[in-house]
Amino acid sequence: MARRLPEKPLDAPILQRAIDAASDVILIYSVDRATGSLILSYVNEAFTRQTGYVAQEAIGRSLESFRLAMPDDDGMREIRAAFAEGRPGEAELVSYRRDGSSYWNEVTMHPIADKGEITHWISIERDISEDVARTSALAEEHARLVALVRAARRIFTSFDARRLVETVKDVGRELLGVPLRVLGADPAGAAVEVNELARGGVLSPGTVDPLVARAIAGRQRVVDDSQTHAVVYAGQYGDTHYLIDMRVPAGRKLRNTDVFVVDLIAEYFAVAARNVALYQELESRRSAVLELNQTKSDLIAMLAHDFRGPLTSVVGYADLVGEVGRLNDEQRDFMAAIKRSALQLSELATDTLTLSRLERNEVALQLGDVDLGALVESVAAGYADRRQVPVDVRGDVHVIGDDDRLRQVFSNLIDNAIKYTPSKLPPAITVAESGDNVIVEVRDRGIGIPAGEVASIFDRFSRASNARRLRISGTGFGLFLSKQLVALHGGTIAVDSHEGEGSTFTVSLPRRVARARTPRTVVVLDAERDSSFLAYGLRDAGYRVRTAASFEDAIAIVDSETVDAFVIDDDDLSTDAAARIRAFAHERRIPIVATEGNGYARLGAIASVPKPVLAGDVMAVLERLG
Ligand code: ADP
Repeated sequence: MARRLPEKPLDAPILQRAIDAASDVILIYSVDRATGSLILSYVNEAFTRQTGYVAQEAIGRSLESFRLAMPDDDGMREIRAAFAEGRPGEAELVSYRRDGSSYWNEVTMHPIADKGEITHWISIERDISEDVARTSALAEEHARLVALVRAARRIFTSFDARRLVETVKDVGRELLGVPLRVLGADPAGAAVEVNELARGGVLSPGTVDPLVARAIAGRQRVVDDSQTHAVVYAGQYGDTHYLIDMRVPAGRKLRNTDVFVVDLIAEYFAVAARNVALYQELESRRSAVLELNQTKSDLIAMLAHDFRGPLTSVVGYADLVGEVGRLNDEQRDFMAAIKRSALQLSELATDTLTLSRLERNEVALQLGDVDLGALVESVAAGYADRRQVPVDVRGDVHVIGDDDRLRQVFSNLIDNAIKYTPSKLPPAITVAESGDNVIVEVRDRGIGIPAGEVASIFDRFSRASNARRLRISGTGFGLFLSKQLVALHGGTIAVDSHEGEGSTFTVSLPRRVARARTPRTVVVLDAERDSSFLAYGLRDAGYRVRTAASFEDAIAIVDSETVDAFVIDDDDLSTDAAARIRAFAHERRIPIVATEGNGYARLGAIASVPKPVLAGDVMAVLERLG
């Protein structure tokens, strides 16, 4: 049903009463034609309630004159602009009452025009002080919460016994504005201030402090009678109890928020102290394992290396025997078998060496132009005494790659194709260009791989059951190695195989090695060598990591290999050292990632990461480097 409109406008007195009764302040200004200034010509009753001015005092005065001071803030500027442009305006600004007190005022202005000329302005105003207070209280809460979360992060990531204590003190100073002390105490409450967590008991416990004794006994917070000193129990580490001690300056008492925050810090501390203990345990076990692994790697590398010398002699002399006297056919066959076995052993030694380097992320490709057709042909020719292997080359098959490493890959594949084909049928090889890639296919009609074992055949030491059953000798790391080497080139390797029918191994190599695919080398410059956790994390993620204890060490590393970034974790870097590193890194175009702190800007670092440095943070920056 359509609503019926009143036939004529409401009477002015009725409107007047409505305006007078409104809870918002309503003001009407008339525009002085001569001067253009705004003269207050009407105020409602809410105006008096809000400002303390009675109508008679205000009416007739100009807008600029009756306020104590017009603030020059964003709100006032918006209102002035609205006046100047003759358009409606809206702003929140500080206004003043008659008694000089201030309040937050939400102002909406509307011009009223007569025949295109503005004759009046209506201003509707509302006191929003309470809303503003509520919002700013929220903002304050938010800021405090963010600060607490940050503090938690800093404390939880302090894995070092000394750094944890330092961090707790820093956090106390920042959050509470008072110095905190960390106390170590024996169970009786004899306490002394400490700078780090001690594994054993406290070295020189002082006299028994009753507050400390009570805090330890109750595992709780104790506040002294004057309400200026609090001792909060913060857990045990080794045989020592730890407490956080807070004193507020003279003339001030502990507030609820102080106590709340120091309780929280103590809780964080307790968890972090457990982390420190676990981390130290982990670290000592890890270094034992690393050391063992290193010894193993060194041993393997040494053996593999020392094997190759004598093997070269065996091959050389096997060739020479025929030249120093006539051999009968049988002798010649024997010599060929000796030579073949020696070459096989030598390849095994090379693969072993590569494997141990790969484990340490130490395989750096020596890139150059490689004619894959010629390379595969020459590898195949090496097997001519066992089998003739035809190679079909189609199109332009040049790639940028590492000649020696690619030779290793195809030796493995061709060797397998011959080894796992007891029928002596020769494998067929094609090398063909395919857009931005070159594809090499090695196809044999040998024993094949059982269906359920194909998926894991590239795993380290994986050998198929049929190969073992037939007692075909092998180590099971040739394919693993090949896959890694192909991946270093940014390529892929795949197999299609059917037991009893044969296998086809397909290697696809990009013509150019994409930069992002090769592992990056990072030098961690850290005088105290306490970034091992960082180094471990980076290595785990596939980076090559070198640690340097000094700037000189770092230079030596950069001189011997390509370095992609420096990670510098050193607060005590002198200005001079920082300047030298900066100049050096600039000259070699090596980006620097530094830990947050004073050194960051001086080093000209491209990014900073929070302390203590975590691998994830550094990786995020390195990934951005592209
Ligand atoms: P190895 O040949 O020394 O055992 P590889 O890593 O080269 O080690 O190969 C792993 C396993 O994959 C082999 O033991 C074998 O079971 C299987 N395999 C590899 N190539 C072939 C092939 N061409 N035909 C059948 N099986 C193969």
